[in-house]
Amino acid sequence: MSYTTITQLSQGLKDGTFSSRELTQDAIADIKSRDHLYNSFITISEDLALAQADAADQRIAAGQAAPMTGVPIAHKDLFCTQDVRTTAASKILENFIPPYESTVSQLFLNAGAVTVGKTNLDEFAMGSSNENSYFGSVKNPWDTKAVPGGSSGGSAAAVAAGMVAGATGTDTGGSIRQPAAFCNLTGIKPTYGRVSRFGIVAYASSLDQAGPMTHTAADAAMMMNVMAQFDPQDSTSMQVDTPDYTASLNDSLAGLKIGLPKEFFEAGLDPQVAAATLAAIKQYEAMGAQIIDISLPNLQLCIPAYYVIAPSEASSNLSRYDGVRYGYRCDEPKDLMDMYCRSRAEGFGEEVKRRIMVGTYALSEGFYDAYYLKAQRIRRMIKNDFVKAFTQVDVIMGPVTPSPAFDLGSKTSDPVAMYLEDIYTLSINMAGIPALSTPAGFVNGRPVGLHIMGNYFSEAKLLNVAHQLQQVTDWHLQQPQSL
Ligand code: GLN
Repeated sequence: MSYTTITQLSQGLKDGTFSSRELTQDAIADIKSRDHLYNSFITISEDLALAQADAADQRIAAGQAAPMTGVPIAHKDLFCTQDVRTTAASKILENFIPPYESTVSQLFLNAGAVTVGKTNLDEFAMGSSNENSYFGSVKNPWDTKAVPGGSSGGSAAAVAAGMVAGATGTDTGGSIRQPAAFCNLTGIKPTYGRVSRFGIVAYASSLDQAGPMTHTAADAAMMMNVMAQFDPQDSTSMQVDTPDYTASLNDSLAGLKIGLPKEFFEAGLDPQVAAATLAAIKQYEAMGAQIIDISLPNLQLCIPAYYVIAPSEASSNLSRYDGVRYGYRCDEPKDLMDMYCRSRAEGFGEEVKRRIMVGTYALSEGFYDAYYLKAQRIRRMIKNDFVKAFTQVDVIMGPVTPSPAFDLGSKTSDPVAMYLEDIYTLSINMAGIPALSTPAGFVNGRPVGLHIMGNYFSEAKLLNVAHQLQQVTDWHLQQPQSL
């Protein structure tokens, strides 16, 4: 079932062209036969998926189907799934079987969607290339010498290769948008608090947010309709009405004000990526939009501030993996301290340890004010830049990444080069606003994304804006040549 959309599958199920069981069996057979090329799945949940498919077929036959009933999808292996192993791509959780379900995956179950498996990621979602996984790196279906992006690289590769039509991701500093850009997908990071974080393995709690990864904006809208719900189990979940994200996809963009921040087009951006991004933005003029130059003066501070805040929160969140209650425990500990130390030393990978050390240092007495508090002040300045910009414009556009997907192994020895990958995406999480990536062409055969950012709770507008571009361009329909 190569390259079909959720919209097409939903229609086919409704029309009786195929059953959910047939779709699910095909998807699983496809993953089994082809995923060795990409390594995008950590776990395939075949029996459960087939049972869910049979239940979906009954629901469809009874005339009680919801739009996603019977559609096979995959979840990033950071969402806890009851009775299905959830690893966060870490050795420390290699054999962890959650006793409960994350709200997001539960909402998809309620909607009748079928979960075929759990996708690969950077360990604890820390990374920009999916090379930090205990289960090995993921390959980009557009060019298997290239990274798929990270940390939601497995979800991106699984959709780009046509093994599932949609998958969930999480985005703490770019992990949905950057892999979406590298793999020619639509990926949206919603407003902080729009989608429940309950049951998602925490990385940096004040930045983490879940969202969909799909071929089209219309498909992303369908997934958002399922996952964007208030959740009393998440204290940061916002009690706001959920619009029907598919209802406004065709709204006219006449009069739309698009802000172009000059800081997004300065040194460091690959000229070909700049050209592709600007050409995509130019398409909006024909739709009646107006392009306005703006400035986000504190943008360059986002990397140092993020790489203090995110590791600080991570060091706190990851203190729970101590070998006592669940997760990996070292062999034959001498005493309690030896058990803590060796379980963590053996269970965590290099990048995770680096972040725990940076975060613990930044939070320690004497350094807290100099680092953590200062980073929080910078965060507020970045947020204020966006708030001000949105008094002038409706959406902001720019590149998602400074370059197209880079080669596997090319940045693994230089963490700072890897962190610079996030220059355009991090500030969005710091401000808590929503943003998406939509396909915007190719540079040397590798996809480029257009970054569309909006004010708080403007997801429906962002999807509308992306959908309109997808009506006049065909980048999102292109397939990797290898397929
Ligand atoms: N690359 C960033 C990091 O490593 C963002 C990751 C993410 O969004 N989960 O922190």
